Formats: sequence, structure tokens, C-alpha cells
Amino acid sequence: MFDALSDRLSTVFDRLSGRGVLSDKDIDEALREVRVALLEADVALPVVREFIAKAKERATGEAVIRAVKPADQVVKITYDGLVEMLGGDKEPEALNLSLNPPTIIMMAGLQGSGKTTTAGKLALRLQKERKKVLLASLDTRRPAAMEQLATLATQAGVESLPIVAGQAAPDIAKRAMTAAKLQGYDVLILDTAGRTTLDEAMMSEAAEIARIANPHETLLVADSLTGQDAVRTAKAFHERLPLTGLVLTRADGDGRGGAALSMRAVTGLPIKFLGVSEKIDGLDAFDAHRVAGRILG
Ligand code: GDP
Repeated sequence: MFDALSDRLSTVFDRLSGRGVLSDKDIDEALREVRVALLEADVALPVVREFIAKAKERATGEAVIRAVKPADQVVKITYDGLVEMLGGDKEPEALNLSLNPPTIIMMAGLQGSGKTTTAGKLALRLQKERKKVLLASLDTRRPAAMEQLATLATQAGVESLPIVAGQAAPDIAKRAMTAAKLQGYDVLILDTAGRTTLDEAMMSEAAEIARIANPHETLLVADSLTGQDAVRTAKAFHERLPLTGLVLTRADGDGRGGAALSMRAVTGLPIKFLGVSEKIDGLDAFDAHRVAGRILG
């Protein structure tokens, strides 16, 4: 595993072999390689810096100094550090479902991030857990998005809120909440409008919907292939919405997963799910080990 980083580190330590104890300078040299590996995996620079500072503290410990194969030790320290920074083994996979239904889940994110698809995927997941799910699209600017959600609802075997042309997003939210309550739904998923870029109109509308719906879960859906941009997106949404978790889509793509680490580190929010295909069942619970492995390539 992690051949690329292991090879690099081996080269560093080969140069150093013959000396019994690793000095601070030796560790710095090894961590420079780790730094390059993380930057190549598209981890944001401030996050890389924070990571390296922590790794240095650990690497300065006795374990490395006595290690037979220092390269392996540094890889292990790096891997363990990544897993920890990604939330470790304890990361809450499960959605926070209210004991007093309906649970309201709000989806937020930029247009094209995979928000609507993810709403459908979550609906299917919950439907499989025998929950009665209502999907509602608040994307009043894109009628196609509303129809897309209705189609996804059918695929997932759940209901979608009937579309009423001309109704404003906050009013649709209220109508959806009333319907969910009166008709005994366990979960209401609100799919909000996105934009291609961060803009004030989108943010204030999303913030208003969050105020009205007071969701139990507000999930930011982000494209894991957007790398550094994902961090800006996460920061901007986190400042305006009561986010409770992240969903990273396109984990099936070529990306190295750096965005996951960056977004987790910058927001402190748990990554709850990974989108792993275009299909409606393409949603996996988040696994820190898998993503750490991917980052180390
Ligand atoms: P929205 O504008 O944020 O609602 O984005 P959509 O849900 O319409 O998704 C945009 C495109 O990304 C669609 O073609 C989806 O099929 C695709 N997509 C969404 N999630 C994933 C994923 O996890 N993996 C892959 N490969 N494609 C995805």
C-alpha cells in the first residue's frame, strides 16, 4: 500500500542510513515528502501545514527513532494522522433521525454538485430501512430539477411533493412540512436550489429555508473532484447554514480525496456519505480508512 509515498520516503531514508538516530532535520526531510504527496492529492495548503505540524510532533517520538524501517513508520504515522483528521473510526455514519417524526433533512450545495441525485439516493437508503419518505424540490428556478427529483422519488419507491407552478421556495418548504406531518411521513428531504457559483441570493434563500424548516440534518453536498474550490464552498455554506454534515459525490472519479480531508478539517463537520456512482444506489457510508488510503495513493 501507498507505494508512491513509501518509495519516496525510502529514498530519503536510504540517504540517511548508517546513522542510528533520526534528527529533527531527518524528520523534516521525510515530512517534506509527505507534504508533496498531500499537495499532489489536492489537499488545501493550510490543511497540509496543520497536518505536517501534528505529524512532526508524533514523528519526533521514540517509535520512529528506534524503528528498523523508518520509512514504514513515517507512512504509518501519516496514514494514522489522516484517518484521525478524517474523523477516525467513530465518525457517525448514521443520519440524525428525530424521535419525533418527521425528521427534516435539508440538502444544500452548488448546482451540479450532485445534490438532487444525492437526495434520491438518501431517500432510497431510508426507504430500505422502512422509513416513509417524502422528497420535495425547492428549486423553483429550474423546473427540470423538480421533475428530476420526482423521477428519482419513483425510482426510490418514495413519494414526492406535488409540484405547484409559481410557488416560492419558502412556501414550498412550509407546504412540504405540513404534508409530511399530516400524512405521517418519517422523513422529509428538502432539495434546495443551487447556483453554479457561490452567490448571495442562493445563500440567503437557503438560510431562510433553514430558518423555516429548522432541519435535523443540513447536509452540504460537494463534488470531491473540485479540490481546492470545495474548501471555499464548504466555508461559505458553513458560515450561513446550520450544517450538520457533508456528502462528497464523485468519489468514484479520478480525484485523490484531498477535498474530503480539506473540507473535514476546515469545517469540523463529519463526512456522512460518499457518492460512488450516478446510480440511485451509489451512496456509501463514509469510511475514513478508505479515503486516507486514497489520499496516499
Ligand atoms: P445538482 O445540480 O447538484 O442537483 O446535481 P445533480 O444531482 O443533477 O447531479 C449532476 C450530475 O452528477 C448528474 O449527471 C449525476 O448523475 C452526477 N452525479 C451525482 N452524484 C454522482 C456520483 O457520486 N458519482 C458520479 N459518477 N456521478 C454523480
